[in-house]
Amino acid sequence: MEKLGFVVETPLIQRLQRRHFLLFDVLPLLLVLATPLYWSYLYRSYFEVLLFALMWLATGLGITVGYHRLFTHKSFQAAWPVQVILAILGSMAAQGGVTSWVAIHRLHHEKSDSEGDLHSPNQNGTGLVNRLKGLLHSHFLWMSRHPYPNVVRYAPDLLRNGHVAAINRNYYRIVLAGIVFPAFAGYLYHGDARGVLSGLYWGGVLRIFVLEHIIWSINSFLHVFGARDYETKESSRNVGALGLITLGESWHNNHHRFANSPSFGLKWYNLDPGFWLIKLFEIAGVAWDLRLPDAKQVDGRRLMR
Ligand SMILES: [Zn+2]
Ligand SMILES: [Zn+2]
Repeated sequence: MEKLGFVVETPLIQRLQRRHFLLFDVLPLLLVLATPLYWSYLYRSYFEVLLFALMWLATGLGITVGYHRLFTHKSFQAAWPVQVILAILGSMAAQGGVTSWVAIHRLHHEKSDSEGDLHSPNQNGTGLVNRLKGLLHSHFLWMSRHPYPNVVRYAPDLLRNGHVAAINRNYYRIVLAGIVFPAFAGYLYHGDARGVLSGLYWGGVLRIFVLEHIIWSINSFLHVFGARDYETKESSRNVGALGLITLGESWHNNHHRFANSPSFGLKWYNLDPGFWLIKLFEIAGVAWDLRLPDAKQVDGRRLMR
């Protein structure tokens, strides 16, 4: 264990990281690249498009609203059934168990774009080749092997949360359930093996692939390209046009400036579906204590552009 116990690196952890990387990062990429080989075998009806869209939206909201805004930043409080649903949906995204994800992301905010940030695109030096290497590292390669943040230091609140800890222990089973469910839905709709495989592809493999690349793009491209609306210590950027497709995550510079805010868009006219869901939760009485910054803070200390 490294001094102070901030991160741990053991052969067992490295084996688990490699297994996770190959199963959930490399395999979906290879299967999607191989799509032309089995494209003609797949059903491609409105049902498959709907299955893909619903699974993408549900697991994407699990990541941005659950893993990120609720569990990492505690930007609002939620009733335990909401916590459970969000943690399960976030787990289905196959981006790691909730405790690991939260610990890694808290470390990102602590070290942002400096030594110790596990996925900074800005630590590989200057020049085109080094910049490209930095992007590739921050987008994808860092996950194959990295120092693991000590969860006792970075996520003690989640270790004490019984519901979340139970979901964390069953992470692999939940990922599997998120793949079996659309496959089963495909069988119910079409009643044959093609339906099963089509459901597995659209609602499982392709959905995991698309969502993970969207989330990884926040780590990589949104620390390089986009608008710096606020002066912050790291290089985070905003790309408002991607607000819908990223469910609000593309307001990444706003987020680094107001990390504890449940709203990433900050203004009502900025597209931020993750925050819309939190507002719905609040109206329904299952979320409260939304830690929104006041308007003066939002309008103050902006960069002149
Ligand atoms: Zn960031
Ligand atoms: Zn964050």
